[in-house]
Amino acid sequence: MLNQGENEVVDAETVLCQTCGEPKKPTELVPARSVLAPIAVLIRKEYPAWSASGYICRTDLDHFRAQHVGEVLENEKSELAVLEEAVRQTMKDHALLAKNIDIEFDRQLTFGERLSDRIADFAGSWPFIVSFTGMMIL
Ligand SMILES: [Zn+2]
Repeated sequence: MLNQGENEVVDAETVLCQTCGEPKKPTELVPARSVLAPIAVLIRKEYPAWSASGYICRTDLDHFRAQHVGEVLENEKSELAVLEEAVRQTMKDHALLAKNIDIEFDRQLTFGERLSDRIADFAGSWPFIVSFTGMMIL
């Protein structure tokens, strides 16, 4: 295929892309040094000879960019799954805790406490306020 290292110059106008081996115009090429490090790693996985002073055509770069984005999304998805599981577990623990507190609370209330709760509920209610106001006016 291609020589190791530098891009082959076909003529003054075209350069062979180091990755796909096709002749490209300089405007269609991106220098390796402006490629993001994680993307450069992906490129070297497929093209170990890709030179740091070489070039990659935009079509190939787009392909590797898409691959990189795909991998990042995949990683985030698995991180999200871990987070989701942690939240679910926490919610389960809290539900259990709340249930236990309710049971304990009900058990501890005496008859007097329950009665005073009812009275407090009624005294704060609208029917009580309306009937009390009515009694005051009469
Ligand atoms: Zn190419």
